Amino acid sequence: MTPDTEWWRCELLFFAGIIAWTFVEYLLHRFVLHRIPRIRDMHEAHHRDQQALIKTPTFVSGPAYLVLLVSPLWWGGGLAFAFSLAAGFLFGYLWYVTVHHLVHHRPARQGSLFFALKRRHALHHHVTREGNFGVTSGVWDRVFGTDIQPRRNPRRAQPNGRRLAER
Ligand SMILES: [Zn+2]
Ligand SMILES: [Zn+2]
Repeated sequence: MTPDTEWWRCELLFFAGIIAWTFVEYLLHRFVLHRIPRIRDMHEAHHRDQQALIKTPTFVSGPAYLVLLVSPLWWGGGLAFAFSLAAGFLFGYLWYVTVHHLVHHRPARQGSLFFALKRRHALHHHVTREGNFGVTSGVWDRVFGTDIQPRRNPRRAQPNGRRLAER
């Protein structure tokens, strides 16, 4: 239904949806999964047993996605706007689920990007729960000062993150 001339806008919105997801991923992990009582218990179960299948049922996440995201976007900006942005958001979410599964179930080659993602999430699990809330990237942790860096040289501070020696 969207005219061809509008496709570039749909593509931009799709990528904006992916970026928006990374921010929501950070906020959800920091302020919902670790703070809201019953949800925190579910997340604690994941922290205790990292390979267990602990998930939100689709009958909860699906309607929440439609009611909290798609409907207001549709109401505010129309069908093409809502679906383009929401599709990018959903893509970001599925990417997050995939990365989070892989960091807990697959080995990583040292020096690879996947190794860096796996290590930063391991620091969240094993060193402090007050940092490295982003799973697919560390961008928002750096923006909000919650980025935790591994200690490479105990005598030198890490300029862009807190030292593990301080914990
Ligand atoms: Zn995890
Ligand atoms: Zn956590």
